[in-house]
Amino acid sequence: MTESKSLIDDCLKLPPNEPKLITRIYNNLLSLSSPPARTHRCKWEKEFGKLITDYQWDRALENISTCSHSARHCLIQFKIIHMLHFSKEKLHNIYPEISSMCDKCKTSVATHLHSYALCPKIYSFWADIFNIMSEVMGIVIKPDPLLIILGVSETFKTLSKAQQCFISYGLIIAKKQILTLWKSTYVPTSKMWSEGITDTLHLERIRYILRGRLQHFNKTWQPLMLYLANMPPRVHSIVFGLLAGLHNPTEAA
Ligand SMILES: [Zn+2]
Repeated sequence: MTESKSLIDDCLKLPPNEPKLITRIYNNLLSLSSPPARTHRCKWEKEFGKLITDYQWDRALENISTCSHSARHCLIQFKIIHMLHFSKEKLHNIYPEISSMCDKCKTSVATHLHSYALCPKIYSFWADIFNIMSEVMGIVIKPDPLLIILGVSETFKTLSKAQQCFISYGLIIAKKQILTLWKSTYVPTSKMWSEGITDTLHLERIRYILRGRLQHFNKTWQPLMLYLANMPPRVHSIVFGLLAGLHNPTEAA
C-alpha cells in the first residue's frame, strides 16, 4: 500500500513538460503489478526446485495468450501460471483438517506441480500424450514438467512455429482435462485427449479462417489429422470432415 502510494506520488510530482511523460507514468503503473508476477515465479521456482530464467518466464506469460485461440483455454493457462486452482496442499494450509495428500496416488503431498504433472498417475497420462505428439511430428519430445506447466522448454525453441502451436494446443487440452478431474481419483486417458482435440478442432479452424490463416491451420494440424484418421469411428468421422475441408478451403467458413 505504501509502495503504491509512493509510486502515485512520484507520478504526480513529474513535471508536465517531462520528456516521455506518458511512458514514465505507464512504466510506474506497470511496476505496481510486477510483485504478484514475481511472487508466482518464485513459487514455481520453489516447486520446480530450480530457477526460472527471465526468458522462460517471459515466454510463459506470452504462452497464456498464444496457447489457443479460445479465450477459455487462455483463461485456464492464466489460472495455472498464477496458481489460482486449489491444490490439496493449498487447501490444507487454509483448512488444516483437510489432508494435503494427493487423492490420486495417495503417496505424496499434492503441490501444484505434483497435481498437474508429477503425480505418477498423471505423469503416465502425459507420457501417453507425448508419445502421440512425438509420433505425429516424427521427433521425440519428452514430458518435461516445465513444458507441461509453463509451455516452454529448450526443445521447444528448436521446433517450427506450426509444431509449437500443435504442442501448446495439445498441452492446454490435456490440462483442461486434468482440471475436470481435479478432485477425482481418476485421471484422463489419451483417448479422452484425442477426442478432446477433435471435438474442438473445428472451432479452432474457424478461428484461423476468421484471421485469414487457413494455410497455417492446415500446416499445424494436418499431421495430427492424418494420424487420427486411424482412430475409432467417432474420432475418425470428425477427422475425415476436417480433412475434407483441407482439400476444399473455400467450403470452410
Ligand atoms: Zn499423486
